[in-house]
Amino acid sequence: MSENGLMAVAGGWVELDSGVFRLVAEPFRLNVGLIVGKERAVLVDTGASLATGQELVSRARTVTALPLGAINTHSHFDHCFGNGAFDAQVIWSHRLCADHLRWDGLEHRREAVAQLRSGNVAAAQELAASPVVSAGCLLEERAYLDLGERMVTLIHPGRGHTDNDVAAWLADVRLLFAGDLVEEGEAPSFEDSYPLDWPDSLGVLLALQPARVIPGHGQVVDPVFVRQQQTDLQKLADLCRDGFRNSRRPSEMDEETVLPARTARTAIGRAYSQLAAESSGVWVERQPG
Ligand SMILES: [Zn+2]
Ligand SMILES: [Zn+2]
Repeated sequence: MSENGLMAVAGGWVELDSGVFRLVAEPFRLNVGLIVGKERAVLVDTGASLATGQELVSRARTVTALPLGAINTHSHFDHCFGNGAFDAQVIWSHRLCADHLRWDGLEHRREAVAQLRSGNVAAAQELAASPVVSAGCLLEERAYLDLGERMVTLIHPGRGHTDNDVAAWLADVRLLFAGDLVEEGEAPSFEDSYPLDWPDSLGVLLALQPARVIPGHGQVVDPVFVRQQQTDLQKLADLCRDGFRNSRRPSEMDEETVLPARTARTAIGRAYSQLAAESSGVWVERQPG
């Protein structure tokens, strides 16, 4: 976090491969990507505030003068509330990401501001002043961005961290920007997740055979790390299917996961909601703890 508590970009761009850069936006350890082709460039995620988005654009301008667009990996504020620094027509996201921002974006901002206010007043004010802008270019499953002698494949591998995750795949250098489908340094976040689908979605990404994977937060990882996360998520899904079948209470099951107790409770609750919806056809938002 910057000294005055504002959201800030820490350090400069690190070139991961030719024309592919990463930097870290604080205070959320957010990995932001910059992918440069011969004719265009795109940012992967726009940061948690308008000011961060504007700073990211000016940082990108130290690397390239080409027309600059952006990709939203999903609808969580830390990844896309810098969208106001762009014209919506040059931002790509999943259709549901745009829907969430349009329908729930102000509520999402209000909740995030309330959470931040206790620990980081300056960041909370910065977020409160950021417009909610949804992407103008939408995909369902895949989209191909031709940056000029460089193709970026945008892939929605299925539900996982949210229902609108998009990964950016660079086949030429075998680099994958995975958004929060992959989390390094902390447990994955399950608040809006689909734990039963998440392992299969990671399987789709692993099938690409990436050499390196840039998570939404934390250090760059290799496929072995992603496979371990997939295994952990599969065990969680299996535990929940079994527990649901046997009417076990989620509070009995926390310690049977590799997750911290509070995270496990959220994850199991989400999985149980999915299972209840599967069996009744009705989505139940909250299960008894
Ligand atoms: Zn997220
Ligand atoms: Zn995130």
